[in-house]
Amino acid sequence: MPQPGDYDALKDGFPRQEQTLPGATQQMDPVPDHGEESYRGNARLHGLRALITGGDSGIGRAVAIAFAREGADVAIAYLPDEDQDAQDTAEWIRKAGRTAVLCPTDLTDPQACQTLIADAVEGLGGLDILVNNAGVQMARDDGLADMGLERIDRIFKTNLYAPLLLVQAALPHLSKGSSVINVSSVQAFQPSTSLLDYAATKAALNNLTVNLAAELGEAGIRVNAVAPGPIWTPLQPATQEPDKIESFGTDTPLGRAGQPAECASAFVFLASPTEASYVSGTVLGVTGGKPVF
Ligand code: NAD
Ligand code: MG
Repeated sequence: MPQPGDYDALKDGFPRQEQTLPGATQQMDPVPDHGEESYRGNARLHGLRALITGGDSGIGRAVAIAFAREGADVAIAYLPDEDQDAQDTAEWIRKAGRTAVLCPTDLTDPQACQTLIADAVEGLGGLDILVNNAGVQMARDDGLADMGLERIDRIFKTNLYAPLLLVQAALPHLSKGSSVINVSSVQAFQPSTSLLDYAATKAALNNLTVNLAAELGEAGIRVNAVAPGPIWTPLQPATQEPDKIESFGTDTPLGRAGQPAECASAFVFLASPTEASYVSGTVLGVTGGKPVF
């Protein structure tokens, strides 16, 4: 397993591969690095309770491992098809000595968003941190004409409606020192036509982040976003053309894709009520050098 900073092999790209949504970690070549062997915690989130949507795999799994090693109990939401990935993440949370709460949920269902918050609060005994990380993109259609209503609905409901509904439902449980972290994308700043609908949801999420920060600031609740660049997660082989996978991430200034493990510290920083006590309404890029303004 490479140590953080030793990812130069990714400059050569990835083997051609393809999955179907939602994608599975063990089918990936190479299997991503979520910080399993490298992340060292320092009690920065000691005793806090976090819900991470899409916490089964990819960026969400790396955040779950880091949060648990920083002393937080962690609930993860994921699609029922992702049970294997969810169990693997839960195992890492428990190995860190923390509570893991498993919440299979389809976030496109507004009622399920309500139930998720209730289940997370019950399982964790409260809620301090909400990470709206679940997201979906589709990049295989030929263009605008093929962008059917089903696709648009799924992308907007998952990436935009669910974060807003989850913040609404979580609000009664959050208090001074709590925080929300939305997962945006470099696509909000440098949109690709093949991801037109997805990019629009991420731009809207940035706007929502700033405005929620304004609204919730008085209650001492901070709201921020992380905008990743190309990160090696199941979402990519499940939604990109296989030939694009071969060069995935090589167009960044650092010349390679990022690993989920390289995103985790940004979330830990933003979630920390002491280290990020005056940080709210910001979008933190983890993009390998692509601009986020
Ligand atoms: P991932 O596939 O590992 O995680 C996405 C997760 O979203 C899935 O595991 C799934 O549990 C969840 N999800 C999707 N639809 C859902 C639904 N209807 N109900 C419940 N959960 C659902 O991929 P990832 O790349 O780690 O994605 C995490 C976030 O990062 C997403 O918001 C994505 O848009 C964002 N992002 C990823 C990249 C990248 O290059 N990987 C770049 C920028 C932003
Ligand atoms: Mg997954």
